[in-house]
Amino acid sequence: MNGVVNRQKQEIERKKSNNIEHIETRIPSPKTTGAENYKRHITYMFQHFEALVTFYDFQTARIRRSNYIGNQKATDHAINILINGSTKYNKNRRKNTRRNKGKRRKLNSRYTRDLSNTKQSKKGKQAARAFKKKFEEGDKSKMPMIIFGDGLKNKSHVQIKGLRHGVIDKLYRQLKRRENLGELLLLDIDEYNTSKTCNGCLVKNLENLKYGGHKIHQILNCNNCHIFWNRDVLASKSMFTIATPIWSGNGSPSVF
Ligand SMILES: [Zn+2]
Repeated sequence: MNGVVNRQKQEIERKKSNNIEHIETRIPSPKTTGAENYKRHITYMFQHFEALVTFYDFQTARIRRSNYIGNQKATDHAINILINGSTKYNKNRRKNTRRNKGKRRKLNSRYTRDLSNTKQSKKGKQAARAFKKKFEEGDKSKMPMIIFGDGLKNKSHVQIKGLRHGVIDKLYRQLKRRENLGELLLLDIDEYNTSKTCNGCLVKNLENLKYGGHKIHQILNCNNCHIFWNRDVLASKSMFTIATPIWSGNGSPSVF
């Protein structure tokens, strides 16, 4: 999302071509209790000190900086999708539809015309401000509420090869920060009961659908009112049922 993978590839290539990879893979471990082993580590490091220092130069610093910036941009972007809606769920944000193109052309022409005519006069400034308002969406007195299930939390330490990990914690921290800025409301919910209680009758009497002696994990059947639920749909509906009374200040409903 932010180019880290590409940069890593380039860095590995550069390491290979400078013979640094060969040096680095052979470093004797400093994690030892034996003085002799540690001495070996130190002598090795001093032997290759020159090569390592010349390799880790401005180029590496630049890459680290780009990674850092990219990282922050990516999390911010993710949160912005949650707050403002992405192009997927908010058609106005799409760039290349014909209608949007026309709208943009109109706005752009107005923007450039106003600025060029008035040389930062009062009118020009006003026009610029009016233009900026177009980016803000919706009613400002409304605030998005983001529900965070605890099933997502504390999973970051589980590392799966080839998959991104540690993202949720970052997102959560960023969400907390935005909450402090007053841009959204964050609500933590205990997920445990959300897929155990029927959303139609609010009775805890659900069973997995059985087919040929096998339980189907994804589909639940309410024994009380006989509704079939998709597990994920049920969970999100339950979260909404929990969130609404909390929002109006009545506390979480007793079934959950
Ligand atoms: Zn039911």
